[in-house]
Amino acid sequence: MRLIDGKIISASVKERVKDEVAILKEQGITTGLAVIIVGEDPASKVYVANKKKACEALGIISEEYALPENTTQEELLKLIDELNNKASINGILCQLPLPKHLDEQAVINAILPEKDVDAFHPQNVGKIMLGDYDFVPCTPAGIMEMLQYENIDISGKTCVVIGRSNIVGKPMGMLLLHKNGTVTICHSRTKDLASVCKEADVLVAAVGRPNFVTADMVKEGAVVIDVGINRVDGKLVGDVDFQNVKDKCSAITPVPGGVGPMTIAMLMQNTLTAAKKQNKR
Ligand code: NDP
Repeated sequence: MRLIDGKIISASVKERVKDEVAILKEQGITTGLAVIIVGEDPASKVYVANKKKACEALGIISEEYALPENTTQEELLKLIDELNNKASINGILCQLPLPKHLDEQAVINAILPEKDVDAFHPQNVGKIMLGDYDFVPCTPAGIMEMLQYENIDISGKTCVVIGRSNIVGKPMGMLLLHKNGTVTICHSRTKDLASVCKEADVLVAAVGRPNFVTADMVKEGAVVIDVGINRVDGKLVGDVDFQNVKDKCSAITPVPGGVGPMTIAMLMQNTLTAAKKQNKR
């Protein structure tokens, strides 16, 4: 069994981004990311702090906009409009989830597609469907990067994704399809999930339930990608029963230290892509 190390692979992505950011800087072009956070969600605060730290390490200018919980839709849209028009900002990210009184989709729609480094805007979602895209949502993008780094060929492989969210499951399925995988996307209504999973050469778990994927659901020699981040007794665990699955598969991502670190690295990559595009590089 091979452990797919997200820390090593994300470090190589970040190194690449850092070099390119420095080259742009020599040409007088800065790279900037604005991160908006509304309210006090502790997990969101940690994610935003990590994104800021990554920007700083790579020479990307980061601007954080921490808005109070009672921010109105109009106030948030006004800020997005300002950032859309701010030349020094290449990427805009609004940390989700937003407080309940705000319309998440309207906020996503307000971000200029060319600054939408999360790739959640309908225009970018559509482009992913067409296979002609600049930005890919960071988590599926990170997984594709890991597979490529590990020389895992997808063409003709049976790929099963558990989870159909707009940020992970659906785009993940599309990216695997673009690489000529034969893709099945499962969800809570899937019948006999275990036998569907057991067919998978590549199994991606994005469910949000600790130790959901058990050894009996995994084909001998499969590649298993664990997207899940679950907290159990203060410890981070994935969606895959790692201890029992690891001996059955050919390669597996751990939690923590697998997909998680890739997500931020790909956000940095998307921000660089935005800066290059906006400066016609
Ligand atoms: P969502 O809650 O949006 O989606 C979960 C999906 O799992 C849904 O499609 C749901 O089906 C499906 N599901 C739930 N229960 C079952 C079941 N019993 N059988 C089959 N399918 C089931 O989650 P996300 O996609 O946002 O995230 C998934 C996990 O990945 C979470 O743990 C999250 O924390 C983690 N995550 C990790 C990231 C990283 O950087 N590593 C980034 C983003 C997320 P249905 O649609 O039918 O309800």
